Amino acid sequence: MPDKKHEGLRPETLAVAHGYDPEMGMWSAKPPIFMTSTFVYPSAQYAKDVHEAFFDNSGPLKGSTHHIYARLGHPGLDFLETRLAAIDGAEAAAAFASGMAAQSAIALAFMRPGDSMIHGRPIYGGVDMLYNQTLTEFGATAEAYLDGTDEVEVRRAAKAAMARGPLKLIVAETPANPTAAIVDLELMVRLADEIGAEQGHRPLVVVDNTFLGPFAQRPIELGVDLNMTSLTKYCGGHSDLLAGGVTGRAELIEKLRYQRVVWGSHLDPFTSWLLLRSIESVAVRMERAMQNAQKVAEFLVSHPKVAGVTYLGFLKEGTRQREVFNRQCKAAGSTFSFHLHGGEAEAFRMLDGIKLIKLAVSLGGSETLICHSASTTHYAVTPEKRLEGGITDGTMRLSVGLEHVDDLIADLAQALEAV
Ligand code: PLP
Repeated sequence: MPDKKHEGLRPETLAVAHGYDPEMGMWSAKPPIFMTSTFVYPSAQYAKDVHEAFFDNSGPLKGSTHHIYARLGHPGLDFLETRLAAIDGAEAAAAFASGMAAQSAIALAFMRPGDSMIHGRPIYGGVDMLYNQTLTEFGATAEAYLDGTDEVEVRRAAKAAMARGPLKLIVAETPANPTAAIVDLELMVRLADEIGAEQGHRPLVVVDNTFLGPFAQRPIELGVDLNMTSLTKYCGGHSDLLAGGVTGRAELIEKLRYQRVVWGSHLDPFTSWLLLRSIESVAVRMERAMQNAQKVAEFLVSHPKVAGVTYLGFLKEGTRQREVFNRQCKAAGSTFSFHLHGGEAEAFRMLDGIKLIKLAVSLGGSETLICHSASTTHYAVTPEKRLEGGITDGTMRLSVGLEHVDDLIADLAQALEAV
């Protein structure tokens, strides 16, 4: 549903104005929720033509927006996907029931038994499980690169993967969960082109943009093929829904929509509506969260009980990571890790002393959340792999929210006293 009158508008404006036109919803200023599982056809022939249009992209109703059944698509998804694609500057978008549903659809659409893929480390535990456990049961293999800014290391991983089978996916979670480690997207795109020429089939570069979201990092503009985001996080923004989105070229997104139809992982009408509403404010919410995060990180980095803070704003000038950050990211985000002196016992003492901040997994909500990575989000990752990714037993992940920053710092200060 391209809307010519919005051409040239900035992503912040598109996030508010694009995807729904009041004419589509009986002039309701905000999109209605079409709470239905199925859609009526005006005649039997029309029903046949709609199915032909949907499954074969042909016939008299080719290009029709008439829906069939909510698992195959519904108006709320149309509004949301049109908006997501426009914000990212992509041709098309597909929204899913969760970020993992989105990532699984990518894996299932583009990998086959015998294929290989590479990903960074650290990486979100669920994505790690998908590629290193579930997909291996289907005969595919995964290889990790340990520094996504180091060309030699990424090439080593790609070579090792290709020795086992055709390389189909280059997955870059950047910044990575939980340490905010950076992956160089320009390098990944260049490598994909090179490998494509070598193996006769270009691997897709897939970015997980969950940590920075659609405004602080714009992967499609950097030439990646698929930009995946857990919309559960900053875009949802209130820790009250689960959703995932992928943007990219229409021909790739079409394949993901097919996965969604067969695996039943579409996003429902109410959650689609909630997201449309939340996305309107994500740029502003992130601005405030990022201001808070900088102050919280500055407090933590000079605290005697803290061994280190992996906040992106602290990347040292002159380092490779800083150079990539400057080139690739527009801001430092509001989720990062800090490492306590000591291990699990010290971490647990601190967490049990927190009063305002909530002890919970997830990130990107209006409230500040803290968790101990090794025992929660990365529980299923082996201790060796966790260490490779910079996650120690004293690593805590903090997602800074919208509270008054002085209250957050006071809470952390009193909890650190217990360590
Ligand atoms: N990618 C990253 C970086 C995440 O942090 C998460 C969840 O924490 C996911 C993907 C999965 O998203 P969801 O929980 O919406 O399935």
